[in-house]
Order: sequence, then structure tokens, then C-alpha cells
Amino acid sequence: MLKLNNVQTFYGNIQALKDVSMHISEGEIITLIGSNGAGKTTTLMSICGIVPPMGGEIYFTEEPIHDMRPDKIVSLGISQVPEGRHIFPFLTVTENLDMGAFLRKDRDGIKEDMEYVFGLFPILSERRNQPGGTLSGGEQQMLAISRALMARPRLMLLDEPSLGLAPIIVKQIFGIIRKINAEQNTTIFLVEQNANLALKVAHRGYVMENGRITLTDSAENLLSNEAVKKAYLGL
Ligand code: ATP
Repeated sequence: MLKLNNVQTFYGNIQALKDVSMHISEGEIITLIGSNGAGKTTTLMSICGIVPPMGGEIYFTEEPIHDMRPDKIVSLGISQVPEGRHIFPFLTVTENLDMGAFLRKDRDGIKEDMEYVFGLFPILSERRNQPGGTLSGGEQQMLAISRALMARPRLMLLDEPSLGLAPIIVKQIFGIIRKINAEQNTTIFLVEQNANLALKVAHRGYVMENGRITLTDSAENLLSNEAVKKAYLGL
């Protein structure tokens, strides 16, 4: 579904991604783990076209997207849930969800999907007329995920969904990520610093260090890999 071939991404003279190659098949949950500044967010930004790569190629369902505008990439079926949520604080929950569906014209489908996300996160249904900015951090994360779902993506990119949230909320959100993957057949690309959590929910994983992929394996094998345990699982 998604293929990165030798992707090189720069911020000015700083090379943040060095020869990054990876692939994601339809229906998978893939995680990218790594420490602060490794290049995880930049990988997502390059896929979305926000920080386009200077070298290499990115294909989404065989179509080259490395030179494509971000809005065109969204219209192909890739939605991002950015780090820090970035919901619209002065718009209500419902209006935030409408924003996620702004490229769609199928009114019935939009209505159906809104009911689906309210089923996933009943608290959002209760707060549907409240401004997004009045929600708790966990609720805002739920809203950010729901807003991305409203685009009916084939591939959803999640950047650090656990950041700053209480463990019980994180558990709930990760359960829902699994459910979305299973029920909607949405392919998931999950960037996380919380490697333990991410590897428990993912099928496969990639490890990134200093802008390079240094290891890839099944999530199960990565969880028991001695180097991963030491560097990322605190064991
Ligand atoms: P974190 O978990 O802290 O978000 P990360 O793995 O997502 O880390 P990136 O944010 O992708 O890492 O950063 C990769 C490298 O690119 C780092 O060295 C970072 O300092 C640099 N970088 C990121 N954004 C910019 C920017 N806008 N301008 C210049 N350098 C940047």
C-alpha cells in the first residue's frame, strides 16, 4: 500500500532522513519507534507532502506521491493525526469532525461515519456541541483520531498518540486503534516513543536512529530483541 525507497529529507542543510526505505501492506498496523529527534515525525511529514523529500521515492498504491501536494495526498486516502492533536479549539466537536470530511461530497456517508466515531468514543457524542478547546487532552486526542477517520482514509498516520495522556486513556485509545484497523480495514502507521505500547498493538515495526532505519522485524521479535529492550523498553 505504501512504499518508501531511499527517502532523503532535509531541513535546510540538515539531513533528517537518510536513505529511508520501508513498506506497509494493506491491513497492517506498522509502528516506527525511535528516540527523540530520530526522524519519526519527519517520516510522516514526508509521506504527507508537508516536508517533501529531496531524494528517493514514495508510492501509495503504486502511485508516486513524493512530488504531490498535501491536499492531493489526502484525497488519495491518507490522513494524519498530528503530534499535539491540533484540533480546532473554537469549533465544536461536530464542526471539527465536519472539517475532517471537507473533501467528501457523500452526505449520507459522512453522517454514517459521524455516528460510527460517536460509537467509538461516546464521550465525544455527549460533547458534540462543545468547543474542541474545552475538551480534556484525552478527549482532544479522540477528536483528532475521529477527525482523521472522517476522511475515510485507507491509511491513517498517527504521531505520538500517547503523548501527555494518562495510562488509562492511552489504553483506551490504543484499543480503539486496533478496532479501527479490524473493523474498517484501515491500515495504520503509528509513530511512538512509547515503544512497549506500540509494539504490543502493531504487527511489524521499524526502528529509526539518527534518520536511518536500523532494524525491522515482527513486533513480537522486536519486543524480545535484546538491543531494543535495552534502548527502547527500559529493560
Ligand atoms: P520527536 O519524538 O521529538 O518528535 P522525531 O523522531 O519525530 O522526534 P523529528 O522531529 O523528525 O524527530 O526530527 C528529526 C531531526 O530533524 C532532528 O534533528 C530535529 O532537530 C530536526 N528537525 C525537525 N524539525 C525541524 C525543523 N522544522 N527545522 C530544522 N530541523 C528540524
